[in-house]
Amino acid sequence: YADAAMYKAKEEGRDNYQFYSAEMTALAFERVVMESSLRQAIKNEEFVLYYQPQVNAKSSKMTGMEALIRWEHPRLGLMLPDKFIPLAEETGLIIGIDRWVMRTAMTQIKAWYSAGLNPGVLALNLSMRQLMDESFMEILHECLETIGFEPEWLELEVTESQMMKKPDDAIVRLEQIKAMGINIAIDDFGTGYSSLSYLKRLPVSKLKIDQAFIHGIPEDKGSAAIVKATIALARSLGLKLIAEGVENEVQKTFLVEHGCIIMQGYYYGRPMPAEQIEKKCFDIC
Ligand code: C2E
Ligand code: MG
Ligand code: MG
Ligand code: MG
Repeated sequence: YADAAMYKAKEEGRDNYQFYSAEMTALAFERVVMESSLRQAIKNEEFVLYYQPQVNAKSSKMTGMEALIRWEHPRLGLMLPDKFIPLAEETGLIIGIDRWVMRTAMTQIKAWYSAGLNPGVLALNLSMRQLMDESFMEILHECLETIGFEPEWLELEVTESQMMKKPDDAIVRLEQIKAMGINIAIDDFGTGYSSLSYLKRLPVSKLKIDQAFIHGIPEDKGSAAIVKATIALARSLGLKLIAEGVENEVQKTFLVEHGCIIMQGYYYGRPMPAEQIEKKCFDIC
């Protein structure tokens, strides 16, 4: 469609402005198509959850897992969240998606506990838009109750940059969630410019060091300095800590030497379907 529109504009000898606006039309068109197929996806439940282990590097035991959404698009195949979560957030469709994620992941984790297995803590990514929605607390209570899910099994991850958009509103809502006994972690920590004074006020119990810094250690001096500073910060504020994006032994060793013990990344396991994590990680980790 885009090519055809541009070809037409060129052929007709129109100026750049016309050319540009044809491209804009194509983009808007693509967005509308995407939005309607996302709507369809919610109705047809075309989503699937993958789970990635979080591991204590000293004991090699799994401490929990993060649920990560994928879209099994009927034509385009498996789509990663970065391809559709931003649009879902803009359009408000994220509310329905994250609701499905909560219910599905909590049901799975509960089933493991009921079978006598120990999946540890379930980390869920929530968009700020979902968190601040007026229906959110009700959905959360309903999920805990109908599934029989203990609040301390749950950890909600909110990115630092989303939290910092409206920090005062975020604090009020996060206080309510914390009061229920649910853990809250700051995702992608180090990329969202939170001031130290807010960090002290936010009712969070864990920092998740962003993978961009982990990928840089130990060679990149800047990354190494940020990782060390974050570890010191977490320690002095009494916060738990996890490193994300750990891909190799060198990174793992650096983290353990500097006092970050819990980690997540390809080194320990990629995000995988439920049956697979049950087979691979419940015994060996
Ligand atoms: P995130 O929460 O920071 O998740 C970490 C991302 O890093 C995941 O990408 C994961 O697959 C990837 N990753 C994990 N270990 C490694 C590693 O060792 N190396 C590298 N290069 N990457 C690693 P994914 O699954 O594509 O998710 C991207 C983002 O989408 C997530 O970032 C999260 O912000 C968002 N997201 C995922 N699932 C959901 C969801 O259910 N709801 C909402 N609202 N957002 C979600
Ligand atoms: Mg996350
Ligand atoms: Mg992250
Ligand atoms: Mg991220």
